[in-house]
Amino acid sequence: MAGLEDEEEVAPTPTLDWMPTFETEAIPGIAASPGMAIGKVHQFKRGKIVVEATAKDPTVEETRLRQAIASAQVQLEDLYKDVEARSGASKAAIFLAHQEFLNDPDLLSEAIDGLKHHHSAGWAWQQAIEQRASALEQLNDPLLAERAVDLRDVGRRVLRLLAETIEEERTLPGHPVILLAEDLTPSDTAGLDPALTLGICTSAGGPTSHTAIIARSLDIPAIVGAGPAILHLADGTPCILDGTNGNLYPNPTEADRVTAQTALKDLHALREAERLACYQPALMTDGHRVEVVANIGAAIEAEQAVNAGAEGIGLLRTEFLFLQRSEPPSEEEQFAAYSQMTQALNGLPLIVRTLDIGGDKEIPYLNLPAEENPFLGVRGIRLCLVQPDLFKTQLRAIFRASQTGLIKIMFPMIATLEDLHAARKLAEEVRQEVGAEPVEIGMMVEVPSAVVMADEFAKIVDFFSIGTNDLTQYVLAMDRGHPILAKQADGLHPAVLRMIHQTVQAAQAEGKWVGVCGGIAGDPKGAAILAGLGVTELSVSIPSVAAVKAKIRGMSFAQTQDLAKRALACRSAQEVRALS
Ligand code: PEP
Ligand code: MG
Repeated sequence: MAGLEDEEEVAPTPTLDWMPTFETEAIPGIAASPGMAIGKVHQFKRGKIVVEATAKDPTVEETRLRQAIASAQVQLEDLYKDVEARSGASKAAIFLAHQEFLNDPDLLSEAIDGLKHHHSAGWAWQQAIEQRASALEQLNDPLLAERAVDLRDVGRRVLRLLAETIEEERTLPGHPVILLAEDLTPSDTAGLDPALTLGICTSAGGPTSHTAIIARSLDIPAIVGAGPAILHLADGTPCILDGTNGNLYPNPTEADRVTAQTALKDLHALREAERLACYQPALMTDGHRVEVVANIGAAIEAEQAVNAGAEGIGLLRTEFLFLQRSEPPSEEEQFAAYSQMTQALNGLPLIVRTLDIGGDKEIPYLNLPAEENPFLGVRGIRLCLVQPDLFKTQLRAIFRASQTGLIKIMFPMIATLEDLHAARKLAEEVRQEVGAEPVEIGMMVEVPSAVVMADEFAKIVDFFSIGTNDLTQYVLAMDRGHPILAKQADGLHPAVLRMIHQTVQAAQAEGKWVGVCGGIAGDPKGAAILAGLGVTELSVSIPSVAAVKAKIRGMSFAQTQDLAKRALACRSAQEVRALS
């Protein structure tokens, strides 16, 4: 039996790295959701909403406007329920945010103001939305630009209800296509049928755009930011979309189409084999074990993670409890959420990261002052330390829940020993108040100073979890959400890998373990390099669990160590990615 398993483990992996011949030209974009699609393209176009500029009676127009907003609210509520049932609460949350836009009394009064001089409800609404959206765009901040996309999306929803006519509205074809669009809004993507959407390619948008996020959650290969050239491709043009590398290949040669078909078939077969083996531990061929756990951001995802083969939760982003609401969650509410997760995990570990707000994650009810550089501002643990009531409420809930399962705590954005000491002190006070047993306490390593001082930090924590998303942006000084730079902010850059190496060595000297919970842990090549560097826990998104486990099972520790050594000696992320 053992012999048979061994044979299966060392079976050759189907080739997945597909490259076209030089005759097929690529339109390069940003890789937004991995995988490959082969098919004919279809240009997605929203209909043109036509509204009259003038109207006779402002009172009638105001009533029409209020009714349209109320109907849009109902639509958004239905959409929320539908997406929540299909993809979970965190993916549906955007439609709650859209409802919030419609609840804004200032927006309504700006639109009502526009009814003066006998303008129609549609015209006034369109003006109010456009003014706000353009103001957001002019601030030159990628996140605010995303908010402008949302605002226009929700504005359009109301406008449709006020429209006289909608011109050039196109329905999607009833057969599978690769969708091309300028950009897709949350409402557009919610209406997509994944079975009929082979792939998505947009001319605009960055790696954090809704198109990218939704495509990943639906497991549809996607490219964003491919430029206007894609909008000139005629419907029905055959294409190969490589979402892993971010290239669209229109009119491929027959030879390329055939090799791409084979690669796609191999990819599906590999995914299926990985899925079937997802409950097997990530034991390397020479017995070295790596724990593969999941990153989650919602209570229901704990069960989904276990069902996908995760051996616990390596990162619970507790922000989900605090977003999209008007006041902080109570201790009881937090306790209920954390214990729902320990119950689903049934003894498997749950690493709860304390609140990581600030940076790109905002909470309006905390009334935080605007910052010039929010990623370098009062975020993560810094915020918790200046708002101790908020922090202590969360810690109380976590320590109470620790009596219902295996919980570990970690603090985000630790940059100084003082911050860590202060956070540990507060946690210890709360633990004693609650009367809970001690739990393992760790910290995220995502700031360069934490790496440089890792030997000191290692003496006072039980574990490190390296947040490579932030570590990469701080090491390379490239905003992780930047529409142009984010593509280069690659966590496999040797500068980041050397930082990880340094962190692992410092931890090992103190007998502490190191995990990685940033995006590169979920990339099979990244996972292998990290294992070779001595990382013993990889925390990845739920859809990546099976592939990462399979990758680890297919190699020996010595092979991953050799790969890691070669990666450390590389001079660029491209060189690391080209290693085999
Ligand atoms: C990270 O920075 O790598 C991380 C896992 O944390 P987040 O993505 O939530 O900032
Ligand atoms: Mg982080």
